[in-house]
Amino acid sequence: MNITEIAQKDRNAVLHPFTQLKDFATGKLGDPTIVETGKGIRIQDAYGKQLIDGFAGLYCVNVGYGRTEVADAISRQAHRLAYYHSYAAHTTDELAILSDRLVKMAPGKMSKVFYGMSGSDANETQAKLVWYYNNLRGKPTKKKIISRERGYHGCSVVSGSMTGMSFYHDHMDLPFSQIVHTGVPHYYWGATPGETEIEFSARRAEELDELIERLGPDNVGAFIAEPVLGTGGITPPPKGYWQAIQPVLRKHDVLLIADEVITGFGRTGSMFGSLHYGIEPDLITVAKGLTSAYFPLSAAIVGEKVYQVMEDGADRVGAFSHGYTYSGHPIGAAAANAVLDIVETEDLPGNAREVGAFFQDLMKEKFSQLPIVGEVRGVGLMGAVEFVADRDHRKRFDPALKVGARISKAARDRGLIARAMPHGDILGFAPPLVATKSEIEEIVAIAEAAVRAVLDELV
Ligand code: PLP
Repeated sequence: MNITEIAQKDRNAVLHPFTQLKDFATGKLGDPTIVETGKGIRIQDAYGKQLIDGFAGLYCVNVGYGRTEVADAISRQAHRLAYYHSYAAHTTDELAILSDRLVKMAPGKMSKVFYGMSGSDANETQAKLVWYYNNLRGKPTKKKIISRERGYHGCSVVSGSMTGMSFYHDHMDLPFSQIVHTGVPHYYWGATPGETEIEFSARRAEELDELIERLGPDNVGAFIAEPVLGTGGITPPPKGYWQAIQPVLRKHDVLLIADEVITGFGRTGSMFGSLHYGIEPDLITVAKGLTSAYFPLSAAIVGEKVYQVMEDGADRVGAFSHGYTYSGHPIGAAAANAVLDIVETEDLPGNAREVGAFFQDLMKEKFSQLPIVGEVRGVGLMGAVEFVADRDHRKRFDPALKVGARISKAARDRGLIARAMPHGDILGFAPPLVATKSEIEEIVAIAEAAVRAVLDELV
């Protein structure tokens, strides 16, 4: 089948996520990009055009494309046993090994792992675990879950409600009423004049405290947050943020869910974002990097405190009535074990730390002084450049100018995928964790050329 036919079939039949449907249907957006192959940090389309993937797909292909070790592990498992479920105490060797590994490597006192297929469904599970836990320990009203404005936790009903950006809710009847949002810890936009990062963090913690008091501590079950805000703008927490937030949660007996879907398995330069920032979660969500997206697999890692209540309640309530056909899929488990072997033997958190520090410095050097750059930020191998119309007064561009999208397109025209983040004019980077310093130089050089090209159009 030729490329035109594939494009036509796609246009006729695929409902693409996050795509302007009319513009795509009428051809205004052009043809779909048919991605055919990938190797290392690069992908190649059906015309043979190579692109550097500066975003590792959707921050997920951490071990890079074309890793035969992972493909072989998937193939071996598919030949041996393509599927069995994990209901009613069934398992496979790969699943048992993976779960033991995750419980041991995850931060905090973790006990058990429940599997899904996406970050969204894992966060849906987390909400149910919070409700189940509080029902079993006789606190049936302690159900509200607080997340943050600009947090991203997925797109399903509960996880989409946790997501703190209105365009994920509009026209979709979200958010669901049990989810409440609190302020985003973004110092650049949120601090008052003269306020230090520590003071700003303390203020965000006080606001959280007040919110819990207002809702009533007996009505608040959990707080969910990404260690580093991801899709909301790749924004590391200000100094002292997690140290200020956690005592508030403990004071009110509110569980902490660390959404490590992006930060899990090395991206910040530590194995988990929670380790990087001194977070002690009760529940942890992982997906993306768990299999480097070679197979859809996510997990809700359940801490000892929550699990013990579940086990203690079992004689009263019977079986744990939650699960998916594909929970603990053996091919996913085999893929995850092969990926974690690479993460550990190649020390990808260490690479993210070392190459990441180089990346952060280079971004600052190349972008900080440009007249349309408000902030350059990031940690490890995740980073962002935020563009503003007025640096002195911190004023955004008119959204109609689509500055972020234009810069992202200019980068793509030059062979680099860097993502226009959905909230503001932000160019985001999250390359595979195997990236070398010279690949980072290539990424930043192309991005700089793209920014300068759009800058020339704007002045
Ligand atoms: N949580 C975080 C922090 C994410 O970044 C994402 C996806 O980007 C999700 C959850 C949702 O994951 P999925 O798209 O696999 O449902």
